[in-house]
Amino acid sequence: MIRFYNTLSGQKEEFIPLEPGQVKMYTCGPTVYDYAHIGNFRAYVFEDLLKRFLLAMGFKVTHVMNITDVDDKTIRGAKAKNLSLEEYTKIYTEAFFEDIDTLKILRADYYPRATHHIPDMVKMIKGLMAKGYAYEKDGSIYFDVSKFPNYGQLAKIKISELKTGVRIDADEYSKDSVQDFALWKKRKEGEPYWETELGPGRPGWHIECSVMSTKYLGETFDIHCGGVDNIFPHHENEIAQSEAYTGKKFVNYWLHCHHLIVEGEKMSKSKGNFYTLRDLTSRGVDPLDLRYLLLATHYRKMLNFTFDGLRQAGAARRRLYDFIYELYHRTFPPGETPEIKTLVKEAKNKFLAALSDDLNISQALTALFELVKKGNIFLAQGQVKRGDRQILDQALQDLDKVLAVLPALEEEQLPQEILKKIEERQKARAARNYALADKIRDELRAQGILLEDTKEGVRWKRIKPTSS
Ligand code: AMP
Ligand code: ZN
Repeated sequence: MIRFYNTLSGQKEEFIPLEPGQVKMYTCGPTVYDYAHIGNFRAYVFEDLLKRFLLAMGFKVTHVMNITDVDDKTIRGAKAKNLSLEEYTKIYTEAFFEDIDTLKILRADYYPRATHHIPDMVKMIKGLMAKGYAYEKDGSIYFDVSKFPNYGQLAKIKISELKTGVRIDADEYSKDSVQDFALWKKRKEGEPYWETELGPGRPGWHIECSVMSTKYLGETFDIHCGGVDNIFPHHENEIAQSEAYTGKKFVNYWLHCHHLIVEGEKMSKSKGNFYTLRDLTSRGVDPLDLRYLLLATHYRKMLNFTFDGLRQAGAARRRLYDFIYELYHRTFPPGETPEIKTLVKEAKNKFLAALSDDLNISQALTALFELVKKGNIFLAQGQVKRGDRQILDQALQDLDKVLAVLPALEEEQLPQEILKKIEERQKARAARNYALADKIRDELRAQGILLEDTKEGVRWKRIKPTSS
């Protein structure tokens, strides 16, 4: 059974998608006014873990992530750089895609841009007006929160705190002041605008996610994610707009990750603790160490980013690397050890069972490292056979389809004639024919294969061929 903590109900619930075997998921994407920071990537990596886990459980996942390419910040940024909104947002949209590839975040099926969906937004806003949920005031259009009785259900706000008739134009506002929010903002001098049936203007931030999620996933879909800062007002407003418009439940499961802080403090440019992915990679940080660090803390816990934590993440990945390196650079006798098959099966089951419990990553990682620890013991005891090597390698690759933290280590097959020579040398050594053993070793070294005799057996590595 898969269970997720649903912000809407405030408890862990069994996850049952609307259509068996299919998951439809929407995750709030970047506002492309700057490079994404590592806090943003905590949210995107958490969502990637969730998606990869669902894929590993055999679901087909349809994933949509919006790109907010028009809002107060993008407009301000474009003006400051003297670029059109399109030119300006293109820079950061491209950077965003480069960054998610660097962090091995799987691409969504759709990345709808707000500016490409203005007519759809106009349609929903008109529908909300027709149903009496929205009203016009001085050329802008607002959602009337008093008309939507369930307003506050996600953020657990009492409707008595509602300030009727008080309007807000800004996309973000405080939880203390529940107000009517802008769906459509009247054209302002010097700002981009669209000439529409609602008059000249531009959409608010919240309407974009209601429109684009339902357009690509249907009026009701399974999962909606974001960081906790999205709960109010953004997701609360999304629910109000969508459910008022369709009359149907908008989303079944709301999953939110807690914030990332840096060295115990909120990230801010003035404190000098504000990092983009590029800031870190330019300091020589391996992006997959960052990925590991971001996903190794349970998503509902606050994550304190430290450089020490990053080093520990690197050390953990190194343990995985070393184990795989051994599997790839040793010669193993034919056969299988049944205990290894059992070990691998148990590790995989534990790993998936842990993630099935609201993505319990600590237990999942424990299962992985137990496998590596015991695998190393089997290696040291010389019990790993050719068949086991294959099973162990496959298990690590399978678990890494969910985590995506393994370093790229291409498995290199030695040519058959070299493997034969290594075996011949082993036999010669066993027969104490050291002259022959040394001769074979020298021959192999000349061909660029260095043999190392360890107490667990022979290990090989490629070197530059020597001429002697
Ligand atoms: P934004 O571009 O600000 O709309 O944020 C994009 C995503 O990153 C949203 O899902 C936010 O909730 C999330 N986010 C922003 N800051 C942080 C942070 N410090 N920690 C975790 N998630 C964050
Ligand atoms: Zn959103």
